[in-house]
Amino acid sequence: MTTNADRSPALRRRNLLKGTGAAAVAAAAVGGGVAAAQTDTAGVRLRWLGTNAWEFTTETATVLIDPWVSRFPTGAYSSPGGADPETRIEVHEDVIDEHLPKADTILVTHGHWDHIADVPYLAARTGATVLGTETHLNLMRAMDAPDAQLCQVGGGELYQFDGYTVEVFRSSHSTTGEHKRIQFGGTRPAEVPKRPKKIKDLVEGGSLTYLIDFGSVSFFSMGSASFHEHEIAGIRPTVLFLQPGGGHTPDFVERALEATGFPPYVVASHWDDFDQPLTEPGVKGGDWEALRDRVAAASPDTEFLLIDHLESHEF
Ligand SMILES: [Zn+2]
Repeated sequence: MTTNADRSPALRRRNLLKGTGAAAVAAAAVGGGVAAAQTDTAGVRLRWLGTNAWEFTTETATVLIDPWVSRFPTGAYSSPGGADPETRIEVHEDVIDEHLPKADTILVTHGHWDHIADVPYLAARTGATVLGTETHLNLMRAMDAPDAQLCQVGGGELYQFDGYTVEVFRSSHSTTGEHKRIQFGGTRPAEVPKRPKKIKDLVEGGSLTYLIDFGSVSFFSMGSASFHEHEIAGIRPTVLFLQPGGGHTPDFVERALEATGFPPYVVASHWDDFDQPLTEPGVKGGDWEALRDRVAAASPDTEFLLIDHLESHEF
């Protein structure tokens, strides 16, 4: 999908709100169709690698969010009790090499295995900058991630990269059960823990959300079905990623749409049963059809996109 001029006012408003820095000016110029210093006029290719793993590719950069492709059986969707906490972590380097050839920046939303388990190896191989909380980074250090590439964030940061900006927001993971607990909750501050061996060792460690702004198009990603409404006030992404779930997050879909200004696009994320192969079409783990219907009811002008495993969409 090529960017239309009619989508630019929202982007321009957002960028002007952010301030008068060079990045904001350049991004606004792109929105107006004026030649800009940033090399983002060719658009962004978005590719899904299952779960919450997304690859953003421009002519000059590759950004990954929660890149995890080493699938192994956990029972997350097939057993009544959910994923078996004692499941041993497997890192399939050959699969990572096959599906994730490049990375300049890796964004981590939280510490669960289906989000960060592949990042230490991937960071070492690619030299990418990795953003995450203190706990996320400590867990990855314990899995031999290169320390010099790890960038600790906590929410509120806005960084300029080559042709795009990344803004970080505080968040919380969605909860389960009558006591509203976070699966594998907790933090690992200060000290690098023992090497995580089982999926329960990869604790949530705080959650973050990210606004990735390429100037012509911007994306807002949450790693679970929750967000902090006041933290993200005023953001106007072109694309909002939403996932099924959020039973303990009141009006999750409706409030997320409103908080982000009813974006032109919603892309369904984290809806597949990730015990199933990535090289086959996604098997439903979460109900993306119910999600689609809620989006349509709350924001009729929003286009709902379902991108299957390893498929791409051009923005
Ligand atoms: Zn997940």
